[in-house]
Amino acid sequence: MNKQELDLEGAVRTITDFPSPGIQFKDITPILGNPKLLRRAIDELVEPLIGEGITKVVGIESRGFILGSGIAHALGAGFIPVRKEGKLPYRTVREEYELEYGTDVIEMHEDAIAPGDVVLIHDDVIATGGTASACARLVARCGGDLKAFSFLVELTFLKGRERLPRGIDAHSVLKF
Ligand code: AMP
Repeated sequence: MNKQELDLEGAVRTITDFPSPGIQFKDITPILGNPKLLRRAIDELVEPLIGEGITKVVGIESRGFILGSGIAHALGAGFIPVRKEGKLPYRTVREEYELEYGTDVIEMHEDAIAPGDVVLIHDDVIATGGTASACARLVARCGGDLKAFSFLVELTFLKGRERLPRGIDAHSVLKF
């Protein structure tokens, strides 16, 4: 297998001004669509978490669901979807967080985390870190023991990891 076949970074497609002017959108679908890259992405996300005792992977809507369920499968953990307001059918806990303009809300089922659960939060991209830190607050409120964050892509210039709770590992496979 040559190196190019396994080039995760080269497979991320940057779309200028999507979904709004000034945003450089990191499109991971070329990775998802390629069997070798998909496997490599999941392998690299999982590698630092082996032996950490993760029992639940929390994936953030919507692209956090895709690799998040693969990570959960590989770690032998369960998967919990965190969704935008009003999408989950059962009783939820909610967290509001700041956007550049206004606020947004994410929700999780109130019984999704069991006592003693060791939790990983996963999303495809960390930008400002606002979504992942709101997700960490949800996990804390539900009694989860947050072990780590994992992201496929980190936009380092936005310094999102500085917004995450101190002392919790944050792994990212690709840094831009
Ligand atoms: P943030 O709360 O700023 O860290 O934003 C994270 C959420 O927005 C994640 O769910 C990402 O999937 C998405 N996101 C933010 N910026 C980008 C970007 N430049 N490219 C792709 N997704 C992004």
